[in-house]
Amino acid sequence: MGSRFEITPYAESDSLVDAGISAAIAEVKRIENTISEWIPGTVISQINDNAGIQPVKVSDEIFNLIKRCNKVSDLTNGAFDISWAAARHVWRFDGSMTSLPDPALIDSMKLLVNYKNIVLDETAKTVFLKNKGMAIGLGAVGKGYAANRMKSVMQAMGIQSGIVIAGGDLIAWGEPAPGKFWPIGIADPNNPSNAIAWIEVGPMAVVTSGDYEHFATIDGKRYGHIIDPRTCFPVEGLRSVTIICPDAELADALATAVFVLGKNSGLALINQLKGIECLIIDNEGKMITSDNLSLNFYGQNENQKTHRITIGSK
Ligand code: ADP
Ligand code: MG
Repeated sequence: MGSRFEITPYAESDSLVDAGISAAIAEVKRIENTISEWIPGTVISQINDNAGIQPVKVSDEIFNLIKRCNKVSDLTNGAFDISWAAARHVWRFDGSMTSLPDPALIDSMKLLVNYKNIVLDETAKTVFLKNKGMAIGLGAVGKGYAANRMKSVMQAMGIQSGIVIAGGDLIAWGEPAPGKFWPIGIADPNNPSNAIAWIEVGPMAVVTSGDYEHFATIDGKRYGHIIDPRTCFPVEGLRSVTIICPDAELADALATAVFVLGKNSGLALINQLKGIECLIIDNEGKMITSDNLSLNFYGQNENQKTHRITIGSK
């Protein structure tokens, strides 16, 4: 998935820890080989190859994952849209882009990006992209989904607590010690291996989307890898968005969506959702939190410094 993963199961026996890590790695490999839109032959590639041609039968797992993505699209007024992927060859964030795409090409992409043209047949369990040239890509939820699955696999093996970090996506379960919460650092967008603040959470996902990992620099300007589906251009205005909620996949999707919605609409959306909090860092470095989130800063409580876990960094 092009990201660094950290798997930290806590268990009495070393053999259970080792088995848990192996099972989690096997699960993430399985997921990547199923949902990547870049690997030829995956079910997502088959759906894309058949855009405008025919529906593709998929497993319940993939059907439900795509269905959940479309629900987030509804919830966010289309800010989150897996059909952004029609533009995946136009915008490359691996350092290979040296000039902006042709505006006519961007205009043609705008017609193709619309999650409402992803047709899901509940009975036949098929996915059909209505128009030729359409494509879907699960990059905005893949790591969150993988983090959830790795956690579930290890939980099912009897591992009662732990932390999984998939790129900027973290999920914790159980307790770090009886009666304790997990202290989680939020990456400083200007210096991602450092934490800018920290929070304490129970069994929660803490997921950060930032513009500092994958981007293109064209004429000295930075273009981050989150695309506004309305313009098919990378969004501007924010450095990072962190979402805190029990589910890593939902947190991942919402982090991407809030990036697109921007500070005001993004915050308004999160404040309407019960049990979901966010921290937004804007281009000026200002930190904005949702109604029920309070941040801690280093120096307030010195002994917390020693066991912080930083997320959002490579
Ligand atoms: P990060 O890797 O920083 O955690 P995200 O979770 O926000 O990033 O995912 C960014 C990826 O999501 C992009 O690389 C692309 O694959 C995909 N993507 C870009 N824009 C959108 C969008 N508007 N809706 C859904 N997916 C998107
Ligand atoms: Mg995301």
